[in-house]
Amino acid sequence: MAELLLEIVTAERVVYSEEIDILVAPGVDGELGILPSHAPLLTMLKPGELRVVKNGEESFMAVSGGFLEVLGDKATILADTAEDVEDIDIDRAEAALQRAQERIAAAPAEMDLQRALASVRRSQARLTVARRRRRRRDVV
Ligand code: ATP
Repeated sequence: MAELLLEIVTAERVVYSEEIDILVAPGVDGELGILPSHAPLLTMLKPGELRVVKNGEESFMAVSGGFLEVLGDKATILADTAEDVEDIDIDRAEAALQRAQERIAAAPAEMDLQRALASVRRSQARLTVARRRRRRRDVV
């Protein structure tokens, strides 16, 4: 089977660079399934789950948004942040979610609502991916 080179890059580092079989990504207009030889594509991503199939094995990441470009047999994700499911710190994501929700509920005059809502979406994406997909049983 032909392969697709997937590169996931943040401002800080290359998070992932592997030949894969299938990518499923959270496009702003819905879930996108990308196979090798997909038509050229440039789209924004929303916070959610990245699903990668490589050699028949699935792996999962949380992404907080960014861009996906598909050109030839290469897919590039420029992500705000991306974490492998096993690297997600659930306590930290819960604390970030609670902080953002408390800020929204208190609604001080100087609050940046969009920023607080973005923080809610990032944390919820991390929690959803970690709770649904983690193989370790100590996190439920
Ligand atoms: P926090 O308030 O916990 O710092 P945040 O939403 O402000 O969360 P981000 O700006 O989204 O943090 O991410 C900053 C960096 O920390 C990124 O490299 C991201 O991958 C990492 N990160 C954030 N939250 C988590 C988490 N719960 N588990 C693992 N890595 C995380």
